[in-house]
Amino acid sequence: MGAVLRNYINGEWVASSATEHLNVINPATTAVLASVPLSSAAELDQAAQAAAATFAIWRRTPATDRIQYLFKLKALLEEHLDDLARTITQECGKTLAESKGEMRRAIENVEVACGIPLMMQGYNSEDIARGIDEIMIRQPLGVTAIIAPFNFPGMIPFWFMPYAIACGNTTIIKPSERVPLTMQTVMHLLAQTGLPAGVVNLVNGNKTVVDAMLDHPLIRAVSFVGSTPVARYVYSRAAANGKRAQCQGGAKNPVIVLPDADIAMTTRIMADSAFGCAGQRCLAASIALTVGEARHTFTDAIADVARSRVVGYGLDDGVQMGPVITAQSQSRIEGLIQKGADEGATVLVDGRQSKIPSYEQGYFVRPTILQNVDPASEIARTEIFGPVLSLMHLETIDEAIALINSGQYGNMACLFTSSGAAARKFRYEAEAGNIGINIGVAAPMAFFPFSGWKDSFFGDLHGQGHQAVEFFTQTKVVVERWQDWSRQF
Ligand code: NAD
Repeated sequence: MGAVLRNYINGEWVASSATEHLNVINPATTAVLASVPLSSAAELDQAAQAAAATFAIWRRTPATDRIQYLFKLKALLEEHLDDLARTITQECGKTLAESKGEMRRAIENVEVACGIPLMMQGYNSEDIARGIDEIMIRQPLGVTAIIAPFNFPGMIPFWFMPYAIACGNTTIIKPSERVPLTMQTVMHLLAQTGLPAGVVNLVNGNKTVVDAMLDHPLIRAVSFVGSTPVARYVYSRAAANGKRAQCQGGAKNPVIVLPDADIAMTTRIMADSAFGCAGQRCLAASIALTVGEARHTFTDAIADVARSRVVGYGLDDGVQMGPVITAQSQSRIEGLIQKGADEGATVLVDGRQSKIPSYEQGYFVRPTILQNVDPASEIARTEIFGPVLSLMHLETIDEAIALINSGQYGNMACLFTSSGAAARKFRYEAEAGNIGINIGVAAPMAFFPFSGWKDSFFGDLHGQGHQAVEFFTQTKVVVERWQDWSRQF
């Protein structure tokens, strides 16, 4: 058993009183990295009490002072980027280059949140009536909670945390119990910035901690990222308790390839989208809809690339794809590939039963391609969350867009083409919140919202950028009359 992880509450590393623990496992080597406590509701309450007490002081700290800690954090994250990336690869399985890319995205959000003094400004109108002025002020909410999934242990808490605290809130982070190590390092770095105790707290655990967050009277807002059933549950329970909630859910991202697309470029980009991070991105391409002649050109090219992708331990040189997160994930993905075959698809490239030399016990699934997937089949609708690309063929872009818009999810939809008119039509009609045109992973930069739609998002205000500032502040409107007694009106 590895070291037992601690919680970080009110500026102290505290041993959890949990009776249950889970092993944190490196999915490539299956080595046990640590033991994570499944903390209790009482421990979450301690964090909430500390965060609430700190809020009284933190909200009075000028925004210009609050962001100084974020500037320091940005410098520390840069300095420790390689260590953080190694930790992500060890606990989550993605390649070192992917882990570094993930941390760059995290840092980008810190940079954007450093602009809070400008971003959280209100507005005003003089003389809404003679001698009367009206002002809108943005104020922080209080204690907020962040619940993260396993697939981006370094980045996803940063879609929320820098904005929450820059706006004057305090927060509690619950990382995924499968990948809790990266946030341990982040907390150590936050402590080095001199950030006052209680502004950011960390409580490890699972559903017990989440439920305690959703029910806690001191917690005003909840930011969640994870699967759709849990997102829906978190959203409804938070709302029933009068909290704000922004809940990002699962996805089944379709990509249209038109016959006029640059096939070499499309194939390269699509391979990274479908198989990068072993398909465990919420913006991974899951379905390729080939139109007309693209059926032949794209299918042959993507099959070649899938077969030749170098799979292995993400810390080893030259590896292009790592394992999936757990043995359960591996067997679930393999089961879904079989389901596709049972439903009539051809397994054009089969990544099941993969054994990687030196890592024979690792949870590997090689890139897989299912051809002639029936749009009405279950596999066409189910989020696989593994390196599996389903191919479907259609005759027109209209049919392809109609198929996309009939789906349950709306996280991302992409189009590969050299036609501006087709691109505009797609951008206009596709029902998804993140659109890529000749892009395979349309991940919004930190100064844009991460705009999932339909069952990929429950709420109104998304993470990142201006919407994060709106989410983490409440508006107060002041109407004022100040009589000027020295003047005759
Ligand atoms: P998950 O839903 O299993 O877990 C997410 C978080 O919720 C974890 O912290 C977990 O401890 C907690 N949790 C799990 N079950 C719970 C329950 N019954 N009640 C309360 N809390 C619970 O998700 P995951 O497997 O960690 O992550 C993968 C999923 O996340 C995929 O569906 C993926 O598409 C999605 N995701 C979405 C986005 C997005 O931006 N939309 C980004 C990343 C991941």
